[in-house]
Amino acid sequence: MSRETEYKEVMHKYMEDVIVSVICDGCGKTESILPKTWYEFSGHHSEWGNDSIDSYVYFHACSPKCYKDALIKAVKEFKNYKRSGKIDGMPYAFAKGLSELNGEYNG
Ligand SMILES: [Zn+2]
Repeated sequence: MSRETEYKEVMHKYMEDVIVSVICDGCGKTESILPKTWYEFSGHHSEWGNDSIDSYVYFHACSPKCYKDALIKAVKEFKNYKRSGKIDGMPYAFAKGLSELNGEYNG
């Protein structure tokens, strides 16, 4: 059986998770897109080899004040992964220490 082909434009339909809103993990403010003044960071761990890509969790902060609350939330989220957990690029223990600092930000 031979096949004849023609070079044509083809539209592929597929489902994918699309971000419909971002929510500040500090104050709960919601935006439909990530504002340039916000900060997004992720936490992940590498406990199960290649599956660790699934461990990525994203956090959002609309201000430095909310960043601290978001960091506290992230530290709680990864409390069972003290060894391999990384939050915003920091080792778990460092992120935990930072989240426990009592300084006031006056910006
Ligand atoms: Zn906020």
